[in-house]
Amino acid sequence: MTGRGIRRAEIIAVGTELLGADRTDTNSLFITRELNDLGIEVVAKAVVGDRFDDLAAVFRDAIGRADLVVLTGGLGPTDDDLTRDAVAHVAGRALNEQAPIVERIRARFQSRKLSMPEINRRQALVIDGATLLENRHGTAPGQWFEWNDRLVILLPGPPREMRPMFERVAREMLGPRTAGERVVRRGIRLVGRTESQAEEMLQPLYRVWIARDPAVDATILAASGMLELQLRARTREPGVAETALERAAADVQDVFGPDVISLSAARLEEVIGDLLRTRGRRLGVAESCTGGLVTSRLTDVAGSSDYVDRSIVAYSNRAKVEQLGVPESLIAEHGAVSEPVAAAMAEGIRRVAAADIGLAVTGIAGPGGGTDAKPVGTVAIAVDGPGEKRFVRTFLFPGDRIMVKTFASTTALDRLRRVLLEG
Ligand code: ATP
Ligand code: MG
Repeated sequence: MTGRGIRRAEIIAVGTELLGADRTDTNSLFITRELNDLGIEVVAKAVVGDRFDDLAAVFRDAIGRADLVVLTGGLGPTDDDLTRDAVAHVAGRALNEQAPIVERIRARFQSRKLSMPEINRRQALVIDGATLLENRHGTAPGQWFEWNDRLVILLPGPPREMRPMFERVAREMLGPRTAGERVVRRGIRLVGRTESQAEEMLQPLYRVWIARDPAVDATILAASGMLELQLRARTREPGVAETALERAAADVQDVFGPDVISLSAARLEEVIGDLLRTRGRRLGVAESCTGGLVTSRLTDVAGSSDYVDRSIVAYSNRAKVEQLGVPESLIAEHGAVSEPVAAAMAEGIRRVAAADIGLAVTGIAGPGGGTDAKPVGTVAIAVDGPGEKRFVRTFLFPGDRIMVKTFASTTALDRLRRVLLEG
């Protein structure tokens, strides 16, 4: 490690629950991403249960291979939390209880009007020669130590404790010990294209980017009706990479136009929030097949009360008639899942809420209820306003009930976004 920097890492996720069928190790994915950003490669990883012998054997194996071993989990207070003990044993080091940690844990309990159970003293056991990592979100501190030119890091298992701790470690401790190259990333969100369409449109850009210095490479991930494009550049000077990514992002904007939700990984609902707020518009939402999902997503954004007035989940035909004033005859003639009814729902909620804009969704989420003319996945989306603006269209989404709801909510939000952009 010394001289050439940390290059090869291994991750060990500790916890019997992670070996069962219900839980999966996600910590190593987060850690891998942080390590890769520092130019450190993960050469192997393991999941091991809460058994001393197994844990010791896996750790012994890992430390023989890698410059850096990161362990997560098993730093809790109970007898089956053995990471400290097993690592200390393999490294031939003592464990010492540190009084200031005991006091810190005690204070943490007291701040919640609880007294510290004696077993929590275990969390104050520190491997001889280790440096502590403060845990701002839990009781167990992390620790790290150098051992024969290698580095060992112990982190708590709960992701919300582990993540901020490891981010700090990566920045402050690992960063200065790596070979010097950095990977800088940028996420771009796209909507309205399938993964393969987007891939095809990006091919010419990939060729251009690869030839640039520094080269930019990209991966596409599809998630709930949206695409996330991850751009990466690797350089010694971060400023140079940022500029390269800025330029590549501008290329993406040129090719995809309004299909770009944001060049900064902002979420669809955040982008809509900004648009509504800056334009001073208030919104009413009428939802049928999405059952409130559209409104739930809109209100995930802090401060959404500035622009979301209300939402009505009008699931039955009666609700559409009574609450939104959709004419019964319209439903009889066209069916509840139809463009005229979607348009009437949007108009209705706009009127009822006295809002600037009404957004409506009605569809068949399945698995039952489909016909040849309107198969499962048929969803009509309408936007009424602002002013004289009108949008209505029928979409056909793939997948099961939950997927159809997700696609429908994403598309409804996206259509609202496009109407707002035009205005
Ligand atoms: P605690 O003080 O909470 O006992 P710990 O360090 O002993 O901390 P664990 O008991 O192993 O951590 O795990 C606590 C929680 O964190 C569990 O709900 C577990 O599912 C989750 N967790 C542990 N390891 C991982 C992992 N590798 N990936 C995702 N979640 C994890
Ligand atoms: Mg555990």
